[in-house]
Amino acid sequence: MRKNIVAGNWKMNTTVPEGVELAKAVVAASAQVPAEVELVIGTPFTHLYPVNEVVKGTRVALSAENCADHAKGAYTGEISVDMLTSVGCQYTILGHSERRQYYGETDEKLVEKIKLALAAGLKVIFCIGENLEEREAEKHFAVCEAQTVNVLKNFTAEDMKNIVIAYEPVWAIGTGKTATADQAEEIHAFVRKVLADMFGAQVADDTTILYGGSCKPSNAKELFAKPDIDGGLIGGAALKAEDFIGIALAF
Ligand code: PEP
Repeated sequence: MRKNIVAGNWKMNTTVPEGVELAKAVVAASAQVPAEVELVIGTPFTHLYPVNEVVKGTRVALSAENCADHAKGAYTGEISVDMLTSVGCQYTILGHSERRQYYGETDEKLVEKIKLALAAGLKVIFCIGENLEEREAEKHFAVCEAQTVNVLKNFTAEDMKNIVIAYEPVWAIGTGKTATADQAEEIHAFVRKVLADMFGAQVADDTTILYGGSCKPSNAKELFAKPDIDGGLIGGAALKAEDFIGIALAF
């Protein structure tokens, strides 16, 4: 059975002291959330070590927001997967639309990053999603299928045990404009069918598919009630422990 996950993506927000306080508040409030819902917080690289000091031994897992596409060496400014595991990371987010849009994250680079992350023992939250122009041109199914197939065809059913997919329509990220539960569900069900064609029905059924895009406590219940929506990747609302936990309580 697939897991329900609520994962925060803090992006480039909070100083280290603020991030540590936020992590403490999330841990303190996490007891309210049913044990079967996995909680993950994704923080900037600078925060990982001190935030791990707060979350280790608790039910809150730690995620990075990216990793390098090389294992080590002369790649100034980059952060390797071994560096991430050495500070307690269990997850990394990869392929976020902001990285695809602003930092030239291509499918090829994502394949390399996911390979390195899985080999290092990290779980991956792999993001897909169409932009507004693609949605208006009714290309959203084709875009999500291509993003999924182009990258995941390089991986096995075994690898899929450590890959979570996050469907994040770009037009809904940070805009306050959430996809309706029906819009999200139709893509989630479609992506699950794509996974079934690639890896078989069991893998498709076992893969957690998160929704991301202006998810908040007020809309999470309707989204999470859908059969193929297994949780959320949360940006803005993850910056307040009360809202983040409020979303997790929607299950
Ligand atoms: C995100 O960027 O992953 C995200 C879902 O952001 P927001 O919740 O702020 O729309």
